[in-house]
Amino acid sequence: MIGIVGGGIAGLAAAHRLQQHDYDVQVFEASDDLGGLAATYETNGDRIEKFYHHLSASEQTIIDLIEELGLGDDLEWPIGKNAYYVDGVVHPLDKPWEILAYPHMSVYDKFRLTLLTQEIDIRGGIPKFDSYERLEDFEDVPIKQFLLDHTSRGVYENFFEPLLDAKFGSRKEDVSAAWLLGRIKFRGERDLLRGEPLGYLRGGFGRLIDALVEEVGEENITTGVRVTDLDTEDGEVRSLTTEAMRSTEVTTTAADGGTTETHDVNGVVVAAMPNVLEDLTGYECEVDFQGAVCALVTMEESITDTYWLNIGHDAPFGALIEHTNYIPPERYGGDHLLYVASYIQDYAEELWQMNDDEIEELWLDHIEEMFPQWNRDSVKEFRLARNPRAAPVYERGYLDMVVPFDLGDDIADGIYYAGMASKAQYPERSLNGGIVAGYECADRIAGKKEVVSPR
Ligand SMILES: Cc1cc2nc3c(=O)[nH]c(=O)nc-3n(C[C@H](O)[C@H](O)[C@H](O)COP(=O)(O)OP(=O)(O)OC[C@H]3O[C@@H](n4cnc5c(N)ncnc54)[C@H](O)[C@@H]3O)c2cc1C
Repeated sequence: MIGIVGGGIAGLAAAHRLQQHDYDVQVFEASDDLGGLAATYETNGDRIEKFYHHLSASEQTIIDLIEELGLGDDLEWPIGKNAYYVDGVVHPLDKPWEILAYPHMSVYDKFRLTLLTQEIDIRGGIPKFDSYERLEDFEDVPIKQFLLDHTSRGVYENFFEPLLDAKFGSRKEDVSAAWLLGRIKFRGERDLLRGEPLGYLRGGFGRLIDALVEEVGEENITTGVRVTDLDTEDGEVRSLTTEAMRSTEVTTTAADGGTTETHDVNGVVVAAMPNVLEDLTGYECEVDFQGAVCALVTMEESITDTYWLNIGHDAPFGALIEHTNYIPPERYGGDHLLYVASYIQDYAEELWQMNDDEIEELWLDHIEEMFPQWNRDSVKEFRLARNPRAAPVYERGYLDMVVPFDLGDDIADGIYYAGMASKAQYPERSLNGGIVAGYECADRIAGKKEVVSPR
């Protein structure tokens, strides 16, 4: 039997693929619910993710899995409008004429930004195409230096810097240019006249988790148990120990003393954060993570017509994401749903220390200031999700720090890693990356892939 630590998308995908290779599997999930970071809330209609989720057209593995599990007809590609909020004004930034009309960048800056997105380098006066093909070349280049060299100060200060502030805060100077270029490539084809179609599974991505659970079989999944130990002998993994969780609260510290059980295994896939891998095996991963605080605000009225609103000023949140400007409110009983999101670089930050009520007041006060016409009384519910490890910090040298899929050489034969610090989750962590990581481990276990170094 192959034991799988974690019942998020990566663990479930690993289990599914292993079964396709004829292996017996058992998934162990510490929480009472499956899905990990893709967990959902109930609404007056369809379920919705606790943290905003959509797909990019380049994410073929998840698209194929959705199709394979019979949900292909429900994968939709609506356009979500993007905009930038600067000095009290929402500036739409999807269509060429909207970008041309954006007043906070010069025509020259816009030209340089366009060239960057088309991967054209005009330094030295001669345009070079496909200049950013090899991301490895930019792995050690600081993002700021790259943007100042390859675009203009205006592009950096008026376009990218506020976005980097929102995403990486005090860590923004550490991020590599390879990350930015990877993100540009990662995005799907844009419809020039309308914007970028983003994928959403009708009824929410919880349906994908449910379909995977059904496929893997509930008898092969145990929830409410934390894996606390892996036992190795003669350089091979032999068994894993689980402990039943007493409370529904899943913490990242030691388990809270429930019943323990030992299971014999022929292999283990750790499909959880690298701190879990370290607790179980001692493998130290240098990748740093950022936390996230994300509210879902249920409202009777909409605030703007934008899906993704970046904030170009100092705000206590990084973005306002109005989900029901992307997926119609009718799916949620007519309610309007807004995500308010902020990333945390340091757990000593005030926001991370605040309780839910304090965050609600701070955020709604600020939204009211930004949109004086908005009726705060239309808020019906404010639900807050927090996660201490919501995304890796893609700093310089990141690819040297990723955890290999096969840890045979590093720990013991039969131990594999499919969590967020794997290479599959670069340049952006995603559901697709989780599935790829699960498949990579399963294929290696089945001997379908060579053992290769992470780079
Ligand atoms: C704010 C935010 C926005 C996002 N936006 C998008 C998006 O737009 N599109 C997209 O595709 N992705 C998005 N993602 C990323 C996506 O949710 C993740 O990449 C994906 O869900 C990770 O899956 P995973 O299985 O690797 O890890 P997780 O979902 O973290 O699952 C790991 C599981 O392991 C369990 N576990 C931990 N320790 C143990 C143990 N010792 N024993 C047993 N179980 C254990 C945990 O309880 C958890 O359920 C977003 C994430 C966040 C936080």
